[in-house]
Parts: sequence; C-alpha cells; structure tokens
Amino acid sequence: MLNKSPVKKILIVACFLAAIIAAFFSLLSSPQGIPILNYHMVDDQTDSRLAVGTEEFAAQMAYLKSRGYTSITPDELMQHWKKGVPLPEKPVLITFDDGYKDNFTNAFPIMQQYGFTGTIFLITDYISNNEWYLNWEEIQAMQQRGFVFGSHTLSHTPLTTLSFAEAEKELREPREILEWRLTVPVTYLAYPTGAYNDSIRDLTKEVGYDAAFTVDFGRVFKGDDPYALRRIPIFKSKMPLVNFYLRLEMTPAAAMLHNIKEKFWPAPPEEEEL
Ligand SMILES: [Zn+2]
Repeated sequence: MLNKSPVKKILIVACFLAAIIAAFFSLLSSPQGIPILNYHMVDDQTDSRLAVGTEEFAAQMAYLKSRGYTSITPDELMQHWKKGVPLPEKPVLITFDDGYKDNFTNAFPIMQQYGFTGTIFLITDYISNNEWYLNWEEIQAMQQRGFVFGSHTLSHTPLTTLSFAEAEKELREPREILEWRLTVPVTYLAYPTGAYNDSIRDLTKEVGYDAAFTVDFGRVFKGDDPYALRRIPIFKSKMPLVNFYLRLEMTPAAAMLHNIKEKFWPAPPEEEEL
C-alpha cells in the first residue's frame, strides 16, 4: 500500500504557499484609480506579442462587461478630474496604439457587441497609405460609433531621439491633419514607444495637447501629471484571461512583477514596426 502522507504533506505545503501568495497579492493590490488598457493588434494571423487573438480579446471584453465596467473617453476622464463630472461606477479606458487595420476589422465589431468604445492613437503617415493600417473611411466609421482618435505622431519615431524642431513637427502636424479630417479637436497623444522626457513633456503641452499616454505600467489617479498617464499593457499571452485579470484587477502587484522582470529580463522593444 502506498503511503499517502508525503502526498498530503506536499498538498498542505502547496495550499499554505498558495494562501501566502494570495495574501501577498491582495495586500499589494488596490482597486483604486482608473485602468487604461493598452492594446496594439487584435489579430490571429500575426506572430507578434503585440497581437492579441480575436477569441482572447472577445473573452476580455466579455469579462469587462460581466464585471460591470463601462468604457469612457479621455475627455470624460479629464472632465472628471478637472470639473468633478461624475464617471460610471467602474470606468475603463480602452486604448489602441499605432492604428492597425485589425482594430477596425476585428476589435471594433467585438467592442460594439459589448457596447464599448475605444481610443486609437494614429501614426498619420500610414493612414490610407499602408495596408496594415487604418484608412480614413474606417476611422470615420468608428468615429461615428463613438471611438476617439488621438495622435501617435507622424512617423512613430521616438520623440526623445529627435531635435527640438523635428519633435515639434512630429507633434504639431498630426493634430492639424486629424482635426481637418475628423472635424473635432484632437488633444490626446500617445508617445511612440512610450519614450518621453521633461522637454518632450513640456513641448507636448506647448503644442496644445491636453494629455499624453505613456507605456509606464499602472492605473491613473486624480492629481497625476496628465502628460505622463500610465496604462496597463495587454499582450498576447499563454493564459490570456488570467493574465488580463491580474493586470486589470491587481494592477499594483502586476506592475511590480512586470517592472522586476523588465529589469532583469528585458523584453524586446515595446513596439515593433510591421
Ligand atoms: Zn506605437
């Protein structure tokens, strides 16, 4: 007969460890602040960590809906912070960087199904100019359904690598192009590759943006610098819903683990050009 006691002991130790880990996470996590999700591609064909599969994405949207989340726009976030305009009970900002075509073909119909809108940061040089990226008709169709479009600069060059004059052009011209095409104010920016510093931050403000989004991991809080808004990156994952849950609902712990991992095992650059 097998002696079961070692197995029992292992199980007890495993349960004990799991309880400690759960306690650690619940201590570190705080449901305060507002989550801003950061997606890139929603696509089954692309072998890139930036590409979340369509089923995974649909499951993530279904999760948000089932937990009572309501999508908000950057304007609603700013109005809440500046003027105290109330937000829904569980607000979430769903953002996409780069303006990939699959945002229209894949993400848009799924989000509509769940009543969500998103904010897409466009690289204006690529619009209607590259088959991987959105065209104006697609952008306008989404705009009519409540999607918001911001600037991701002209060419996606990290702003910190440019001269002052080049950076100024990369920030100013997309606003003019987008405002002319979309006939609404365009006042939000996502820094290409998340790269910014104090002078880029100040220039962004000077050029007329109201806020700028980074790829720094975290939730946002009233009183935060509007030109350094943190987001929660959502990448392709082997455990998409678990990973999504941890990042969304336990952001502080997930951010800490992410930052430790990035320090010792840095991932490839946050954004890859196609
Ligand atoms: Zn980007």
